[in-house]
Amino acid sequence: MNVHEYQGKEVLRQYGVAVPRGHVAFTPEEAVDTAKKLGGDLWVVKAQIHAGGRGKAGGVKLAKSLDEVKQFAEELLGSTLVTHQTGPEGKEVKRLLIEEGCKIEKEYYVGVVIDRSQDRVTMMASSEGGTEIEEVAANTPEKIVKVTVDPAVGLQPFQARQLAYAIGIPKKLANKAVKFMIGLYQAFVDKDGSLAEINPLITTTDGEVMALDAKLNFDSNALYRHKDIVDLRDLSEEDPKEIEASKYDLSYIALDGNIGCMVNGAGLAMATMDIIKHYGGEPANFLDVGGGATAEKVTAAFKIILDDPNVQGILINIFGGIMKCDVIAEGVVEAAKEVGLDRPLVVRLEGTNVEQGKKILNESGLKITAADSMADAAEKIVSLVK
Ligand code: ADP
Ligand code: MG
Repeated sequence: MNVHEYQGKEVLRQYGVAVPRGHVAFTPEEAVDTAKKLGGDLWVVKAQIHAGGRGKAGGVKLAKSLDEVKQFAEELLGSTLVTHQTGPEGKEVKRLLIEEGCKIEKEYYVGVVIDRSQDRVTMMASSEGGTEIEEVAANTPEKIVKVTVDPAVGLQPFQARQLAYAIGIPKKLANKAVKFMIGLYQAFVDKDGSLAEINPLITTTDGEVMALDAKLNFDSNALYRHKDIVDLRDLSEEDPKEIEASKYDLSYIALDGNIGCMVNGAGLAMATMDIIKHYGGEPANFLDVGGGATAEKVTAAFKIILDDPNVQGILINIFGGIMKCDVIAEGVVEAAKEVGLDRPLVVRLEGTNVEQGKKILNESGLKITAADSMADAAEKIVSLVK
């Protein structure tokens, strides 16, 4: 789960990580009020969307007066920001972060990731802050330094110091950098983070070490134990189809293609997407209805697929083990009755109660193309949507 920059900064603040003073604003009036409360004579008006690259796209504005704060807030709120992370359709700006303007000495990068090859949390840092870290990794990988953290003891001060020296943070600020990194690591571990990126981390002309930007991602599978993080969820930033799917505990991910897939088991779902591509088609989604799905869950899943205007055909590929074929069939018939089936549907059923399942589908009056194998099913749906 993703959160906004201002929310990420709130979490970090709780762990002693220095961040600029600032507050969220939903209207130009709130923006001006916040700027007044912050005081000073330099503010930054920052679009809050679940995507990076805002600076380059005009979503981060430096305001030198309260009038400018108002003007930038009016311009940004309600506008659509297109960055290299939003996709061409962009994202609508509904919230702003109004922050004190910082006197930047230099920009650095610090990230925390889970390195699956090491089964450990890795902290990485670079002197090349403010730019895209992917570019640094591709062109000058030697400018990224990493330390692997032993989970039994956590990030050690000497490791943080190693990173700070390696990226060239001035010696007199080393202690502040260490405090920063240890706080960041602790927040990541305590809140079950899956990714944390501070780009840029800055040193200021008055000797502070601060997170000027914050991108925090949290492990969705651990949200049950972090009510405070769940409360930060901004559903308007998420795909409505994925939100609907999560209500039913379905593993659903929207994709760009036109063939909707309903499959049981993540491995089979991946294989189904592969075989659709093999025959020249493009899947519209990943969907694993799970092992113990009920007819209600299957109905919900089928409706989500049908609601997607990009879907021009549907492939159901079920291998009934724990999941019974008749339950799938019932769910499909129920959903088709409720919303109407106006697109080609290819079904491949195999396994537990397959005969009953086929019977339910055959007697439903729905227009269904039966397939005997995965390859056959994929070939059929690809040719039907063409
Ligand atoms: P993004 O990564 O989405 O482009 P950032 O929060 O990293 O957004 O901001 C982009 C740039 O804007 C930063 O690299 C920094 O130069 C400048 N900036 C952001 N916040 C502030 C601030 N509070 N004070 C001064 N400059 C800022
Ligand atoms: Mg940034």
